[in-house]
Parts: sequence; C-alpha cells; structure tokens
Amino acid sequence: MDLRTKALTKSIWVFHVSAGSCNNCDIEILDCFTPRFDIERFGIQLIGSVRHADAILITGAMNRKSVKRMKKIYEQAPKPCVVVAVGQCALSRHMFRFSYNVDEPLDKILPVDLYIPGCPPKPEAMISGIVKLVNKMRKRK
Ligand code: SF4
Repeated sequence: MDLRTKALTKSIWVFHVSAGSCNNCDIEILDCFTPRFDIERFGIQLIGSVRHADAILITGAMNRKSVKRMKKIYEQAPKPCVVVAVGQCALSRHMFRFSYNVDEPLDKILPVDLYIPGCPPKPEAMISGIVKLVNKMRKRK
C-alpha cells in the first residue's frame, strides 16, 4: 500500500453532494454522524469543501443541470478520491429513470467505487459499505 492510500484509509474526509435527491438519503447520511451511529469512530468526518475530500457521497438522480456541476465538483477533489453512490436514485435513477431531464445514471458520468442501495439506505448499511471499502483499499498493494 502506498503512502497516499495508507493516509486515505486512516481518516476519510467526506464531502456530501445532493445531485437531485428527495432529501431522505441526505437525512440518513446526517444520521450516520449522530451519537447513535457515530461514524466518526472510524475516522470518517464530514467536511465543507471538496478540495479537502477523500470521498464524495452522492445522492439523487443526476439531472441535466446537476451533471455539469457534479463533474466540476469531482475535478476539484484531490485524487485519489472515492466516489460513493448513496441510494437507489444515485445507483439507477430509480423512479426518475424515464424523466425528461434525467439522461444517464451516475456511473456513466463519474467512476463510482461503492454503491449503497436502498430508498433510503439505512445508516447501518452506509457505515458497513464504507468500512468494507476502506478494508478493501487497505488490502490493495
Ligand atoms: S433513493 Fe429514495 S430516498 Fe433516496 S433520493 Fe431517491 S427517492 Fe429519495
């Protein structure tokens, strides 16, 4: 494991973006940071700027307006940066699949490293997914 990956997996700083969600997924992400679920015990912190992010959590179906903005946000993140699709809308466009302004799923726009399904996914599912991803990255050489 190189130094950058080692540092990345020690304490992940997470930037959260709603790309067109109904906000339920966003509320569940915030739940992960409450004392009940306490995701910070794994060194994971929510931050306010993508320029310091190790991971981007994306919720919602990408509409034509959010695609451009998401690409810009991803470009601004330092690399390597992990992209996590949270919720069914981010995974597959869900109920917005046939909407006039939702053209492509997230993984056709950005390289997605982790998919967390559910509508909305439970905080336990998000924590478990992120911890599995971190362990997988640690095993990579
Ligand atoms: S997956 Fe469900 S909860 Fe999440 S943004 Fe879509 S409709 Fe809302």
